[in-house]
Amino acid sequence: MTELGLKSEVSGLDTLGIKNANHVYWNLTPAELTEAAIMRGEGQIASTGALMCDTGKFTGRSPKDRFIVQDDKTKDTVWWGDINLPISSEKFDKLYQKMIAHLEGKDLFVRDAYAGADKTYRLKLRVVNTMAWQNLFCYNMFLRPEKYKLERFDPNFTIICAPEFMADPEEDGTRQSNFAIINFTKRMILIGGTAYAGEMKKGIFSVLNYLLPQERDVLSMHCSANIGKRHDTAIFFGLSGTGKTTLSADPNRSLIGDDEHGWTDKNVFNFEGGCYAKVIDLTREKEPEIYDAIKFGAIIENTRFYEGSRHVNYADTSVTENTRTSYPIEHIANAVTPSIGGIPKNIFFLTCDAYGVLPPISKLTKGLAMYHFISGYTAKVAGTEAGITEPETAFSACFGAPFLPLHPTRYAEMLGKKIEEYNVNIWLVNTGWSGGPYGVGSRIKLSYTRAMITAALNGTLDNVGYRTHSIFGCGIPLTCPGVPSEVLSPRETWKNDIGYYKMANSLAAKFIKNFEKFQDYANDEIMAGSPRPRKDYA
Ligand code: ATP
Ligand code: MN
Repeated sequence: MTELGLKSEVSGLDTLGIKNANHVYWNLTPAELTEAAIMRGEGQIASTGALMCDTGKFTGRSPKDRFIVQDDKTKDTVWWGDINLPISSEKFDKLYQKMIAHLEGKDLFVRDAYAGADKTYRLKLRVVNTMAWQNLFCYNMFLRPEKYKLERFDPNFTIICAPEFMADPEEDGTRQSNFAIINFTKRMILIGGTAYAGEMKKGIFSVLNYLLPQERDVLSMHCSANIGKRHDTAIFFGLSGTGKTTLSADPNRSLIGDDEHGWTDKNVFNFEGGCYAKVIDLTREKEPEIYDAIKFGAIIENTRFYEGSRHVNYADTSVTENTRTSYPIEHIANAVTPSIGGIPKNIFFLTCDAYGVLPPISKLTKGLAMYHFISGYTAKVAGTEAGITEPETAFSACFGAPFLPLHPTRYAEMLGKKIEEYNVNIWLVNTGWSGGPYGVGSRIKLSYTRAMITAALNGTLDNVGYRTHSIFGCGIPLTCPGVPSEVLSPRETWKNDIGYYKMANSLAAKFIKNFEKFQDYANDEIMAGSPRPRKDYA
């Protein structure tokens, strides 16, 4: 391992109390980390040169094991509940000591990085990893400081991530052996018991979602962003699997970022330095930008090779459906640097409606937009279990509730002000089902969704006729280039009125039920965005 550019600079970790690590590898390059991962048996090289790793027992985040230290700083500011679970500072301190002791004698991979492409708002991070591939993940996903900046780097937030370290729930106050704990006072995240690297990425996102709105008057958003040739910025909000990453990779527009952004009074800036894309059923034909980004330096997680080869079989879901790749944003040919764009001209709310009710594209008034933003609707299909055909609704406020430490209305108010101030167009895009619910209809073709978004962005949809959806109140364009007109109207893709409107009524009822908890915070304009079930199909 000494060939890997070892720096015996343990001193930098003194402040963390880490004194007797075996070797500490600072800021290794992607080549060195890939090599280290192979030597340590953490992964294999795929035919494209990407590093293929398994994340172990956890192939996704574990939201029920994400805690925030409850202390004077957070007590009255964090929105406590199922999403933001409290843990005491005493428990945190004890667990921290245990983790530090666990790191003794280990090889550590340390990385200094930024979160936030706008210098004014960025966070300086130090990440301590026990696995080389996870440190490469951080290289890919966070921003990479210039070399001279690394010589004197003074971090203001630290992540310690040791997947092999297991908590003892009884003693440590966790739910089970895995945990991700954010401590805003000590400015630290501890992660253990899980090797799902997304915990680090979404941990820092949660930190920014707490700090930026409160301390810097910046709206933090779970969205992707890109920019057109006429310098018009578009942002795409949406829950997991709705198409943020897929639709922001557009050959005609430059990528700003695929998942996390801040909106200041001057710009929209990416928090990250890379993308984390789903690779299930990935093909070069459908998603060329992402497909080609999976080269040396990229990581692919939980995938399998075709037998007897090193070619990745993206259709193989034997480990999980949540197979992923991470790569630095430069792997996308038309990404802007720095990852910053102007005030958005268009906002898309992406939803994967598995009931086949919502139109594939529709226009929202401000009231409707606020209603949908607070609702944060998408649907999940019930996986691949035999016999299960019923989709499940998922409402997640601001299209990202699991990452929001503050009350959702805090973010919604900020968005509302910005929409008003800048007169932004807001579109609701259903990337899910058409012609019937999951099991009956089919998913809207990606090529159609792309055509609709292009038409919204280039102004074509400003000059077509609209009609209003009788239940959801959104404006449905009557025509769109590249899309058959009957596809634009969900009702027309269904076999009959009764089936469609009954389903639409039932979805509307779910929206209304979910919104009950926000009623006290919403004004009349927002409440007017509520769907109205049709009595003639009750
Ligand atoms: P996450 O927050 O988990 O990163 P995401 O919003 O970035 O999720 P994507 O990674 O873009 O979601 O996933 C969308 C998936 O749906 C991709 O696998 C894409 O190929 C597929 N898909 C199928 N049809 C469509 C469509 N009409 N529009 C968008 N995506 C589609
Ligand atoms: Mn994504």
